[in-house]
Amino acid sequence: MAANRQILLLPGDGIGPEVMAETRRVIDWLGKKRGVRFDIAEDIVGGAALDAHGTPLHDKTMAKAKAIGCVLFGAVGGPKWDNLPFAQKPERGLLRLRKEMDLFANLRPAVCFDALVGASTLKPEVVQGLDIIILRELTGGLYFGEPRGITDIGNGQRRGVNTQVYTTSEIRRVAEVGFELARKRRRKVTSLEKANVMESGVLWREEVTKLHREKFSDVALEHMYADNGAMQLVRNPKQFDVMVTDNLFGDILSDVAAMLTGSLGMLPSASLGAADATGRRLALYEPVHGSAPDIAGKGVANPLAMILSLAMALRYSFDLPDNADAVENGVRAVLAEGVRTGDIMQPGATKVSTRAMGDRLLAALDRAA
Ligand code: NAD
Repeated sequence: MAANRQILLLPGDGIGPEVMAETRRVIDWLGKKRGVRFDIAEDIVGGAALDAHGTPLHDKTMAKAKAIGCVLFGAVGGPKWDNLPFAQKPERGLLRLRKEMDLFANLRPAVCFDALVGASTLKPEVVQGLDIIILRELTGGLYFGEPRGITDIGNGQRRGVNTQVYTTSEIRRVAEVGFELARKRRRKVTSLEKANVMESGVLWREEVTKLHREKFSDVALEHMYADNGAMQLVRNPKQFDVMVTDNLFGDILSDVAAMLTGSLGMLPSASLGAADATGRRLALYEPVHGSAPDIAGKGVANPLAMILSLAMALRYSFDLPDNADAVENGVRAVLAEGVRTGDIMQPGATKVSTRAMGDRLLAALDRAA
């Protein structure tokens, strides 16, 4: 049967292809066992593309990503390409995808699986049942604002400048994603800035408030200073549902939230662009971890962050929440059975390879089907 659901797989380098192979098996399982079929295209990116084409992202791959609209991305980089000039590094492939697809909304869920409560540095009662999302604005703010640079101001002094700048439309489009997400969850948005000391923060707060009043009054909105938000994330993270914030504060708060849940090998992410007339957004889904050259080729990488990234694609690109739930519940079941890759190993658990983790997950999915 022809499917009009399309995905472009870009496995990349290091453990990227290893974790993507297990994800591919889950995609095949969805087709065979749940009748949810996808047209799958695959291409190279990062170091693999540098070796083959002399560029970390070929123009044809870029065009394919835009045409298909939904990209599953593994990871890029590795020691072989570490000494290349910045403009040629494998990571430029990912940056180009984000830029040309205009992926302005970065979503990072922080979900604490019951079986991994012990992996967090926080007390079990603080993180048990945690399920929040950090939504970070990704294409504006301090990392892109002009003027920027380092200038010589004489007398042996230099001056470093970056500019925090946001416009109404940049704030509204990311806040809109936040409110829409909250509508599918517990209907609460916390907007974070520093309106007490920054004009851009005052504007952020005013625009989010206005948008809320105009279109999203069914969702609860609270404002919080970003520094307080960092404190609250480690004090009582379960008070949050969707946290929406700018590029700089989101960079920091999403790393704090990541640590609430323990391991890098468990963390998925999504980056979304603007919605078209049908409501569909260009999107790229990827694990938070990198290419892990220290374990690449050994068959020991944890594929769950990549597989949970697929679950996010099912939820946000294809509006298949039941199938997303099925995959996430499968992961939960495997963890509850005490099956672990090395990165999340605990005393008394069964240590398995990347492939065996895939096998065990498929068996759990079969049992639940
Ligand atoms: P990393 O995330 O690749 O690895 C950090 C540590 O976590 C390593 O010890 C690694 O073995 C472990 N780890 C990561 N993912 C794992 C998994 N799925 N299962 C088990 N263990 C896992 O970060 P790094 O070492 O700083 O960077 C390595 C390379 O990856 C560099 O070239 C870096 O530039 C690149 N990188 C790429 C991305 C990306 O593609 N989005 C992100 C971060 C880093």
